[in-house]
Amino acid sequence: MINGKNAAQFSADQGIRFADVIDGQPEALRTLARRVGIDPGVLESSSFRRIDTWQFERNGITLPRHGVKSPVPRVCPACLREDALASDLPLQTAMAFRGNWQVAFLRTCNRHNLLLVPLWTDANRLDRHDFAARLGLHLDQVMTGDLDSAEFEPSDFGHWIEQRLSGQNDGACPSGTSQPAAGSAAVQQCSSFQYMVAYRKPRRPPVPIQIVSW
Ligand SMILES: [Zn+2]
Repeated sequence: MINGKNAAQFSADQGIRFADVIDGQPEALRTLARRVGIDPGVLESSSFRRIDTWQFERNGITLPRHGVKSPVPRVCPACLREDALASDLPLQTAMAFRGNWQVAFLRTCNRHNLLLVPLWTDANRLDRHDFAARLGLHLDQVMTGDLDSAEFEPSDFGHWIEQRLSGQNDGACPSGTSQPAAGSAAVQQCSSFQYMVAYRKPRRPPVPIQIVSW
């Protein structure tokens, strides 16, 4: 909740459809960025833009919906804690959800070497994406560190996929080969990701029923 309003109501007050923000529509993101005083370019490049029902795009990479939109949003508690401690805003308003946390292939926060934590789900996507309201139910656990996992060593693949999603690498796997059998775990994971991107198959539109008159 922001000023007593849910995300959809707050967005409407700003002249933005919350569904368009969730779908990463450029005009909605630019308007939102202007309203809250952040760089529109940063917001756009870190958001997934819906192309159609089954596909999203980010920094020139087209990805299937199931790969980048989890029905169970996950968070890094340490990132959220840093947000809160660096701001004078109410805690859940200061905490920012990162688009990368929804990417199925990304299981850890490479910045803090912690597992991402699933916290809620909701069949209604507007309610599911109301992060401030949802995080408000977990603030104590976030701030005390109770949700933190044991630390993990950063993986090569974790770094690679973050760079890939940011458009900071050209898609070549860490070892320079795309042959899973020839490489390390990072190469195999990278190749699985490449396969998901390459073999996405948008569903065909339904075939119209033929009405036969006798
Ligand atoms: Zn983190």
